[in-house]
Amino acid sequence: MKKKMIILVSIMAIIILVVFTISLIINKNGEVDKEDNKSISVVTSFYPAYVLTQNLTDQIPGIKVDSLTDFSAGCLHDYQLTTNDMKLLANADVFIINGGGMEEYLEDVIASHPKLTVIDLSEGITMIESMEHAGEDNPHVWLDPELYTVQIKNANKGLEQYFMNLDPGSISGDSGDIIDKLNSNANDYLDKALDIVEEMNQILESVKERALSNDISNKVVIFHDSFAYLANKAGLEVAYAVEIDDEHPLSAGEIAEVIDIIKGEGIQYLFTEEQHDGTISDRIKEETGTEVFIINSAVTGDGSKDSYIEAMRYNIDTLKEAFK
Ligand SMILES: [Zn+2]
Repeated sequence: MKKKMIILVSIMAIIILVVFTISLIINKNGEVDKEDNKSISVVTSFYPAYVLTQNLTDQIPGIKVDSLTDFSAGCLHDYQLTTNDMKLLANADVFIINGGGMEEYLEDVIASHPKLTVIDLSEGITMIESMEHAGEDNPHVWLDPELYTVQIKNANKGLEQYFMNLDPGSISGDSGDIIDKLNSNANDYLDKALDIVEEMNQILESVKERALSNDISNKVVIFHDSFAYLANKAGLEVAYAVEIDDEHPLSAGEIAEVIDIIKGEGIQYLFTEEQHDGTISDRIKEETGTEVFIINSAVTGDGSKDSYIEAMRYNIDTLKEAFK
């Protein structure tokens, strides 16, 4: 009898020990960590998505927004994730992307982090075809302020859904309050963007009228695909998109080809970007007399919330100057 008691007590002791160990392991895998750190980590893929998200999450406690790339990185074409990026994504709750093929690494991220909530800012947007890469989408939709308002709404909707489905215990604040603030932030930012839409559409419309009446040449040369959305809306035909980046500098033959097109087609306007080296556009200008205008594609900045709005105001002024 005594022997049986000892065996029973021993079995119970083993069961208690096993349960205790399992609970320790579970806690180590996140439960305890969540209790300690109740902030939501939102990671954005590049600068325009970062600026948009900053505006939407402004003054909402418990949301941390990080940009995967640094503020001077520019567009993401051919971007490869770094070890630091992967660490950031491993601890992220939400990943906000531009979409349209801008994040070429996206499939790998989704495969390695199946629980990560991905918000595609370009959902529902019909993209124009890339001039640089035939058959592919041109992902630079944010440069058309009207499409940017769709991106704001997509971010708002995606974040709202995320907070609606969130376990109440996993954040310190009330998710209803967070959603209210999110919606009011989104409305404020939309108002600002809509002012830009109105001003931008006005100038694009006047360019279009002048191009149609042959008052100005309707053909332009652009550096990089990003100006294509505005050119399209203004009824301008992109005669040539100069593909240029750090890895593929323009060859002498390609520069000669651009110069030939400009001379042959009587092109008066060349639009380049701040992120590109100016020496090539200077040379083209020298040899052809074509005016060179710089577009701010809003892909770099100091991280301030008004970066996008300011870049677009600059672009409106540049277009007014170009087509005055
Ligand atoms: Zn780009």
